Amino acid sequence: VIPTTSYDVVVVGAGIVGLATARALLRERPGLRLAVLDKEPQPARHQSGRNSGVIHAGLYYRPGSEKARLCVEGNRRMVAYCAAHSIPHEVCGKTIVATSVLEEERLAVLEERAGANGVLVERLSPTALREREPHAAGRAALHVPSTGITDFRLVSLAYARDVEEAGGELLLGRALAGAEPRAGGLRLATSDGPLDAAFLVNCAGLHSDRVAAMCGATTGARIVPFRGEYYRLTPAARSLVRHLLYPVPDPDLPFLGVHLHRHVDGEVSAGPNAVLAGDREAYERGQLSPGHLGGLLVHPGFWRMAARMGWTGLAELVRARSQAAFLRAARHLLPELRADHLAPHPAGIRAQALDRSGRLIDDFLFTEGERSLHVVNAPSPAATASLVIGEEVAGRVR
Ligand SMILES: Cc1cc2nc3c(=O)[nH]c(=O)nc-3n(C[C@H](O)[C@H](O)[C@H](O)COP(=O)(O)OP(=O)(O)OC[C@H]3O[C@@H](n4cnc5c(N)ncnc54)[C@H](O)[C@@H]3O)c2cc1C
Repeated sequence: VIPTTSYDVVVVGAGIVGLATARALLRERPGLRLAVLDKEPQPARHQSGRNSGVIHAGLYYRPGSEKARLCVEGNRRMVAYCAAHSIPHEVCGKTIVATSVLEEERLAVLEERAGANGVLVERLSPTALREREPHAAGRAALHVPSTGITDFRLVSLAYARDVEEAGGELLLGRALAGAEPRAGGLRLATSDGPLDAAFLVNCAGLHSDRVAAMCGATTGARIVPFRGEYYRLTPAARSLVRHLLYPVPDPDLPFLGVHLHRHVDGEVSAGPNAVLAGDREAYERGQLSPGHLGGLLVHPGFWRMAARMGWTGLAELVRARSQAAFLRAARHLLPELRADHLAPHPAGIRAQALDRSGRLIDDFLFTEGERSLHVVNAPSPAATASLVIGEEVAGRVR
């Protein structure tokens, strides 16, 4: 007889979303037998520990979307949580700068959207822009006072402490390999022996589609990993950026574009770009897994996405940008930036779900399975919104 341990709920993934969900479940139901399972030896080893650290305000998202709803509330809750737990953070505001006529038109749309989402923004005159960001170039700008910065790895570690203090267990260095239905729940195969769970919550980030498939849940979505490269500014160049400096996003692209931002430790970085990664955890350039690529190529959504974007658009997504191209993008915002101001910084990989029709799913996506619930798509601003997403998922589990 193989010994098993039995839980009411097993949360797969000790990233910021899994830990926030575990925390919310234990707050709702003290005494719940709950474990958080992660294949890594520490929490927040993937997206939650490798991101821009921006507490987003919530102005970009379609009014009425889950992202808009959860981000606006999540921003306020994240700032309060950081303050209560002495986690370094600052509500420094950000500036979105338009550098062309087209971007100026898009900035006006963004301003309207901010109003619809209840996010306060103010137009900056060229003089006000120069006062706020003296080195930025732009013909028009929006200031978003409620945007902040923090370190989401430290936030995740604080959530992990909350989970343990509430009686939850962290099972780290232990990968989920399969799930079989059995009376009253699921028998989970893990790299360190079996576990029983009455219910499973999938917060596996870059592997959420695989974990959903293990549980027999059909989502139709495939996770496409996008590698985001950053550069850090050398100490001499840091004074070029006072707060957070963003371009106006291209509405046809899923990400916000190369931005310049201060971190809570005083570093300033530029990035990230977004390039299709050769594997789900291929953090280094040139890393490639034939199995991963094969899986992507047989997904019908990939070909539909390719047809929609055209080969030029696809090539843009595949080609790792040279430092020169990266610099050109950043110089639109900060003309004084030079190549010798840029030093390499660790990359992050975004988990972006692609549906069968070839659409990159923009909103958060939760799917129910048999005795399981799957956070299929939790892209940015999921770190900002994590406390509220955790409560939302806990509510659905209930
Ligand atoms: C480059 C970049 C910049 C970003 N910038 C921001 C930002 O400024 N602001 C913001 O709000 N958001 C930002 N985001 C988004 C944010 O970081 C993510 O939305 C968030 O971290 C997702 O958290 P998660 O817990 O879902 O995933 P993850 O942090 O990836 O956690 C998933 C966990 O599941 C574990 N796992 C997977 N498979 C298994 C398995 N089979 N068995 C056991 N464990 C498993 C993994 O080891 C991992 O620890 C950014 C993301 C990236 C990549």
